[in-house]
Amino acid sequence: MRYPLAKPYITGAEKRAVARVLDSGILSIGPEQDAFEKAFAKRAGTRYACAVSSGTTGLHLTLIAAGIKEGDEVITTPFSFVASANVILYMRAKPVFVDIDPLSYNMSGGEIEKKITKKTRAILVVHIFGQTCDMRAISAIAKKHNLLIIEDACESIDAKHYGEKAGTWGKAGVFAFYANKQMTTGEGGMIVTNDKHMDTMCRSLRNQGRAPNMQWLDHVVLGYNYRMDEMSAALGSEQLKKLSFSIRERQKIARWYTKHLAPYGDLIKTPATAKGNVHTWFVYVVQVLKKGVRRDDVMRKLNARGIGSKPYLPSIHLFSFYKKAFGYRRGDFPISESVSDRALALPLYVELTEKDIRSIVRTLISIL
Ligand SMILES: *Cc1c(COP(=O)(O)O)cnc(C)c1O
Repeated sequence: MRYPLAKPYITGAEKRAVARVLDSGILSIGPEQDAFEKAFAKRAGTRYACAVSSGTTGLHLTLIAAGIKEGDEVITTPFSFVASANVILYMRAKPVFVDIDPLSYNMSGGEIEKKITKKTRAILVVHIFGQTCDMRAISAIAKKHNLLIIEDACESIDAKHYGEKAGTWGKAGVFAFYANKQMTTGEGGMIVTNDKHMDTMCRSLRNQGRAPNMQWLDHVVLGYNYRMDEMSAALGSEQLKKLSFSIRERQKIARWYTKHLAPYGDLIKTPATAKGNVHTWFVYVVQVLKKGVRRDDVMRKLNARGIGSKPYLPSIHLFSFYKKAFGYRRGDFPISESVSDRALALPLYVELTEKDIRSIVRTLISIL
């Protein structure tokens, strides 16, 4: 593949950091995790940061720590990676979907308010593709109805909404470091919060429910092994150092795409950045608008010509598991479905040049 869809940005510094951990003999529960957490909390601007084994496990722990119970309703979006809805099911709670805003592809305050019932306990917002939801409006609704906010910021590290960072609006925010995210630890995640109880609970839960002082023999709650290992943490610290650079590069690449696609607005819809937002570009997603052209055909032809692309994202409520469990049907969330039908992610990673982007755009337009 000449242009893969995504590629981690790994340099000698990362390789040396991981080798240093391997040489140290401490491969888990050690100083690298502490250092990564401290650096991450500082950057996020939160009091606490708790490293975990993935974004999914991080979200799971925040819901346990927040006291979500069987039968509770949690409002969330169908236009997301499946994990954000699955974690609600881990709690035997009910994900209540709201349709998305057609410009930002994020959930919006108005739709959320319509779905609030006596059973609603929390709003699990997902900041999709690298920009936050309208957190001013959503925070006001949460306050009015006394609901918790948990932020799935897995795709939106460092994104800002009126100057405030993703992950810092709610009770807790969760980031993910899978290899295609803006920074990676291989597998990994981070929970940030300003709430001491949330942090203490997550630390205990990720480590088999051990008492907060980590004494060997007392397990105070039902816990898990959701820990991050030391190699991943060392890798994460190095990736964090170059995160500003990586994001600036991604923002530059996104601008190139938008500029070179601009003359073809009747064929391709380019992504929009909502008011007050700083976008940090997890993926660059366009919609295929041309009548009679199927997105999947475009994707196949791009792939055949060495350009990676993927449908970002299928709507969660139409996955067979969700259809079977909840009886969802096509038509239930028309905006989400319409974006899912037409959306296409294009290659986005540090190292792409403007020449590359011009070449990708030229190929895409010739296919259309
Ligand atoms: C990546 C991602 C996650 C978490 O993914 P993991 O693979 O578990 O780290 C959760 N939600 C969204 C929206 C994501 O994009």
